[in-house]
Amino acid sequence: MCALETTDPPVPRAVTKTKAPKVGFVSLGCPKALVDSERILSQLRAEGYETAADYAGADVVVVNTCGFLDSARAESLDAIGEALAENGRVIVTGCLGAEAQTIRDVHPNVLAITGPHQYEAVVNAVHSAVPAPHDPFVNLVPPQGVKLTPRHYAYLKISEGCNHRCSFCIIPRLRGDLVSRPAADVLGEAERLVRAGVRELLVISQDTSAYGVDVKYRESEWRGRAVPARITDLAAALGELGAWVRLHYVYPYPHVDQLIPLMAEGKVLPYLDIPFQHASPRILKAMKRPAAEAKTLQRIRDWRIAVPELTIRSTFIVGFPGETEQDFRQLLDWLEEAELDRVGCFRYEAVQDALANALPNAVPEEVKEERWHRFMAAQQIISARRMQQRVGKDIAVIIDEVDGEQALGRSMADAPEIDGSVYLPAGKGAKKLKAGTVLTARVTRADEYDLWAEPV
Ligand code: SF4
Repeated sequence: MCALETTDPPVPRAVTKTKAPKVGFVSLGCPKALVDSERILSQLRAEGYETAADYAGADVVVVNTCGFLDSARAESLDAIGEALAENGRVIVTGCLGAEAQTIRDVHPNVLAITGPHQYEAVVNAVHSAVPAPHDPFVNLVPPQGVKLTPRHYAYLKISEGCNHRCSFCIIPRLRGDLVSRPAADVLGEAERLVRAGVRELLVISQDTSAYGVDVKYRESEWRGRAVPARITDLAAALGELGAWVRLHYVYPYPHVDQLIPLMAEGKVLPYLDIPFQHASPRILKAMKRPAAEAKTLQRIRDWRIAVPELTIRSTFIVGFPGETEQDFRQLLDWLEEAELDRVGCFRYEAVQDALANALPNAVPEEVKEERWHRFMAAQQIISARRMQQRVGKDIAVIIDEVDGEQALGRSMADAPEIDGSVYLPAGKGAKKLKAGTVLTARVTRADEYDLWAEPV
């Protein structure tokens, strides 16, 4: 079960508080699913439901599933099974919910199944399972909503769905085409988060650079001015709020170049999470991704000239159908030239219903495994080299937790959960720090992923 930090609002003395129904929540999958969970919980909390800390204390359990990879689908089905065994009253939502029959085949006794971002349908299903309480004094929810992340950072979802059709991906089928939120809604939510103590906003979507394409960059009013629903305008406006702004899932469109000046000006963090997936033009074409690897190398060079401290994170797939040893070597050579800072690598997985499964020349599992290890070993050397360049420099660090006298934080180059950490050793003022503190520290040591630093 998810650990939820919920502070009950005070109950006026003259009023007897009726027992609020309790909802258990299991949130699986990516940060986008986490934001969906937060939205559902915020709505339920606003209606007076409480959150149960365990299965036994819940009147009903909502399982927010992931359906991206077969392994995630299996995990989701297991989580539903566990909730049924432990509690018995289960509502399923999220990506796997788009395949109601798959769920019913395994778990015929779930109370209701709703698909991804069907917030209203989930909430209605909860109403049917456990009626909402009628106590106006519990109809209170913090203005920033209920967050599942620590208080000092929060994910900010700017759109749903995706207009691309990458051949290995079923997200557009699960989540539909791109639907962007109005800029004023996103900015309003960001303002509430910052007022509530959030120091770092993590902008997420399936395709952050496409933000607003579906609504033709429609303007909406924020702080008395019109803000277009365009990623550069949105990022610049978010940069006015005084929090760190980190952009995730930036598809490599040409107009990404326009985000670089915002990084140079310090409006958004010098951090680009940009999935390249491969470097062989043949494989990129089969993936239905932009195949301009040489141009991309030049763009990376230009970005680094404009913003020398830029961190580039990316993800790749090895063992895609038809990938030859030559394609793979091309990828390794490209990686060596690109010198990316942070890299994730997946072995190709034949996700059910993905178009790529029909491509010829599937790569045997042992070859995928071998390529994955070679890829990771090559990147480890690059990462270590990049990290060593930071030793001796003064960097900004945001503290995530303090344990005794040791503090654990992240630099601007580290997104929560997926990147490295900065260790601030015992003494040297570390115990005065708390989660959310931003300070300057001098890097004393580095390995492939993490840094050690002393506050200055
Ligand atoms: S851009 Fe991302 S979400 Fe969209 S189809 Fe490609 S991999 Fe899937």
